[in-house]
Amino acid sequence: MASDAASRSGTHGRLDPADWQAFRAQGHRMLDDMLDHIERLREQPVWRPMPAEVRAGFRAPPPAVGEDLASVHEDFLRNVLPYAGGNLHPGFMGWVQGGGTPVGMLAEMLAGGLNANLGGRDHAPIQVEREVAGWVRDLFGFPEAAGGLFVTGASMANFIGVLAARTRALGRESRRTGLRDSERRLTAYVSRAAHACVVRAMEMSGLGSDALRVIGFDADQRIDLAALRAAIAADRRAGMTPFLIVGNAGTVDVGAIDDLSALADIAREEGAWLHLDGAYGALGVLSPKVAPKLAGLERADSVAFDFHKWGQVPYDAGFLIARDAESLRAAFATPAAYLQREQRGLAGGDWWPCDYGPDLSRGFRALKTWFTLRVCGLDAIGAAITASCDLARALQARIEAEPALELLAPAQLNIVCFRYRCPDPDPVNRSIVIELQEEGRVAPSLTEIGGKAAIRAALFNHRTTMQDVDALIEGAVRFGRAATQLAGAA
Ligand SMILES: *Cc1c(COP(=O)(O)O)cnc(C)c1O
Repeated sequence: MASDAASRSGTHGRLDPADWQAFRAQGHRMLDDMLDHIERLREQPVWRPMPAEVRAGFRAPPPAVGEDLASVHEDFLRNVLPYAGGNLHPGFMGWVQGGGTPVGMLAEMLAGGLNANLGGRDHAPIQVEREVAGWVRDLFGFPEAAGGLFVTGASMANFIGVLAARTRALGRESRRTGLRDSERRLTAYVSRAAHACVVRAMEMSGLGSDALRVIGFDADQRIDLAALRAAIAADRRAGMTPFLIVGNAGTVDVGAIDDLSALADIAREEGAWLHLDGAYGALGVLSPKVAPKLAGLERADSVAFDFHKWGQVPYDAGFLIARDAESLRAAFATPAAYLQREQRGLAGGDWWPCDYGPDLSRGFRALKTWFTLRVCGLDAIGAAITASCDLARALQARIEAEPALELLAPAQLNIVCFRYRCPDPDPVNRSIVIELQEEGRVAPSLTEIGGKAAIRAALFNHRTTMQDVDALIEGAVRFGRAATQLAGAA
């Protein structure tokens, strides 16, 4: 079946193509196949379980001898593509994941071709990242002195925020001494709705998660400000140093945004660093409907967020911005001979990202972001964010109009949680979620709201429409009925 060109598409003992013509033809085929796949997503299931024999196929020995590119691509088409995670698909509503863009994919290909290392030095890719950082600064209303950089995701960005806050609290010297000689016992604060990576950031920072005070929240899962003030006061009385408040700008379960202005006031009064986990919510500044809820974001000391969620840039494209870029230098810059800066030549350059975060070798995440923002435009990305919130409200209305369903968490942004009403709802709703995922039409996820198993629809995919929302309602009721009838018959 392999054409003559296909059988010459390998590298035949070298690393560059042996036959550029054949390689080029195969490359074009791969590009077309992927674009076909994205264009025809609706004809595919959201997700399908991997058959055991496909899974077993991934246990081949290490490939000592090369194959043709065409044959490995065949394997990809047969055994990888059909069993991907589904977040491209309009029916995907399981977790907080972006749908990506074909523009971003093409840019990712260019970035791969360029193979740029964005640790530092004097080359144009650095300027692209710097330009995107400038856009972020402007969009968030941060001052000129602000600076930031791409990281894998908000998990890493939140970690960097904690480290920057820690270095400010303990001084640069603490980078040498560690926490051992510190007399100041630092405490941090976040609401119970925080993402688990905030807890992990405290663990990884060496401060320990015991030093993170987990504060209660109100009916909308926004941090309880009175409880926060009380916890800080109690810690001060006990001789602790409250150094960091982490605000949520879009929680993972229900999309709650804390009162960011109030948190900024408290942080200023306490001399604490205000870091925001805006993993997906921070880009809400692009939507005229969401932006007002984010008032106060511009007063934060640092914000962690992801271009790969609401921003729809392909994975991975996390970002950390600090109001004072020097605070990142204080936490991360190191003098090393091989990182020597020159006035001229390739080792020059006015901005080396390796001074602002833990990575030295870094890929060109900025390029897919630069392309996506420029080609799609911020207005269109903002409109997709607004549309996802409108869709969530429409879903909420459908749930409220359907007697078999009960709303558990209303649409604050673009996430809605609900359940099927029945005598033993937890196992039934768990099974509804699994049945829906396996059916492959829509894929919500499971969470818990107030101790109750909840079906969570997180509407992040820019391709999702009302027909997907209707399919979710129809499917949840159908599988709910089937499960309760089964239980009744047993
Ligand atoms: C997704 C998410 C994270 C983690 O971000 P990653 O990019 O997956 O590392 C943290 N906080 C919130 C609120 C999130 O939605």
